[in-house]
Amino acid sequence: MSEKTKPVILVVEDNEDNRQLALKVLARQGYEVVGVVDGNEALERLNDIDPDLILMDINLPDMDGYEVTRRIRQREKFADLPIVALTAHAMVGDKKKSLAAGCDAYISKPINVRTFPETIAAILKEYQS
Ligand code: MN
Repeated sequence: MSEKTKPVILVVEDNEDNRQLALKVLARQGYEVVGVVDGNEALERLNDIDPDLILMDINLPDMDGYEVTRRIRQREKFADLPIVALTAHAMVGDKKKSLAAGCDAYISKPINVRTFPETIAAILKEYQS
């Protein structure tokens, strides 16, 4: 990341309140944020933008976040893009499943607005080398 450009974060989340909260918290940290409501919109927007990180809700109305992640990973330019799964599921298998689908990390909802920015910053830093 150059110092002149803000990291771009794509938030894929169908729930309006959750999406707005994530976008607000991230924008406050100085990130450039883009919000989309489902998998198809995410895949469409990725034709035009080149985010530094994707926050991926798993429960989406069209295809689930695992499928969206798999499809994003099929594009070579996004092979190493950090994708962070976002899910309300407290199931033990969810973490495994999201990692298997190609996600790099996992955040449980509701997001903790206090620790969320640190988590995102840490992941971005890890992938910036
Ligand atoms: Mn959802």
